[in-house]
Amino acid sequence: MDAKNTSKTDFACVSPITSADFKIIQALPEPDVYIHTSAGARIPAHASILASVSPVLENIIDRPRKHRSSERIIQIHGVPCHAVAAFLGFLYFSRCTEEQLEKYGMHLLALSHVYLVPQLKQRCIKGLRERLTVENVVDVLQLARLCDAPDLYIKCMKLLTNNFKSVEKTEGWKFLQRHDPWLELDILRFMDEDELRKKKSRKHRKEQSLYLELSEAMECLEHICTEGCTDVGPYDIELNKERRPCTKFATCQGLQILIRHFATCNKRIGGGCLRCKRMWQLFRLHSSICQHSDTCKVPLCRQIQMKIQQDKKKDDPRWKLLARKVAAARAVSSLSLSKRKRDEEISLNMNKHGIRSFNLR
Ligand SMILES: [Zn+2]
Ligand SMILES: [Zn+2]
Ligand SMILES: [Zn+2]
Repeated sequence: MDAKNTSKTDFACVSPITSADFKIIQALPEPDVYIHTSAGARIPAHASILASVSPVLENIIDRPRKHRSSERIIQIHGVPCHAVAAFLGFLYFSRCTEEQLEKYGMHLLALSHVYLVPQLKQRCIKGLRERLTVENVVDVLQLARLCDAPDLYIKCMKLLTNNFKSVEKTEGWKFLQRHDPWLELDILRFMDEDELRKKKSRKHRKEQSLYLELSEAMECLEHICTEGCTDVGPYDIELNKERRPCTKFATCQGLQILIRHFATCNKRIGGGCLRCKRMWQLFRLHSSICQHSDTCKVPLCRQIQMKIQQDKKKDDPRWKLLARKVAAARAVSSLSLSKRKRDEEISLNMNKHGIRSFNLR
């Protein structure tokens, strides 16, 4: 840019303007303030416009001058002339182009932060977010921290975490390691926490699917015991051989096989059969959830509830919690049972009477 632009129309050469903008500029009074840049450029401007958009510039303009006759000068150093011009363009016309953002996005973010121009700051943050790459992420991260842009900062941290092997090779990273060990520490800590968050969410998803399986098993248990399904049903209902499998066929069939096994297993009395234990846990869970044990057709439901009341068993709160989680899964179809609880042994004595109420085909 020419270092000695002083006439008001010359403003056009420092920022892309439309013919409408040009008319506005023509209608403006003579410039009364000059912006000096690092490269020695001198850009004419209007104090009233700068002051109306930036409170910081307003303060600078309002400072008393040494001599009344002397020119008002504002120094904007440390960024390229064209970035200053793009900044002024925004102050005048409330806009900046994609090309300007592409070339000077980081400078404009710094300027908008320093001179308190929030609309431009938001625009730059958005622009930088969209243009974030492995190459520029470290620089943008540092700037986001300096300019108090937390969303951009987090976005940088995530990109950096997900591409650390590539980022490590960049000049930006090497520079940061040499000059900003505290930020390096912040980044490493963020990466550790991110790994922990991912592990937690994997564990959570696993649990969710187990609760969901269990909630489906509870639904099937009630359905088998109330209306019967393909192979197993209540003793007083004739199973219809032509009947089509229910919608939860896989779970329902597994449960029917388990019920048949439970009804005929010889080993279950001594508690030595794992499949029978599993069936017990399902009965136990059902009775923790069941609201209608008086009329419920699920075997042992009432007996188990009575036994819990008599014994005031210590493990009851854990079952209640489990029952709540399964009930939630039933509602939102998205929860699970922890393997630990599923494998826990229930030490209730079996009531042989309950199981006779099945019709096993
Ligand atoms: Zn079924
Ligand atoms: Zn068994
Ligand atoms: Zn019940």
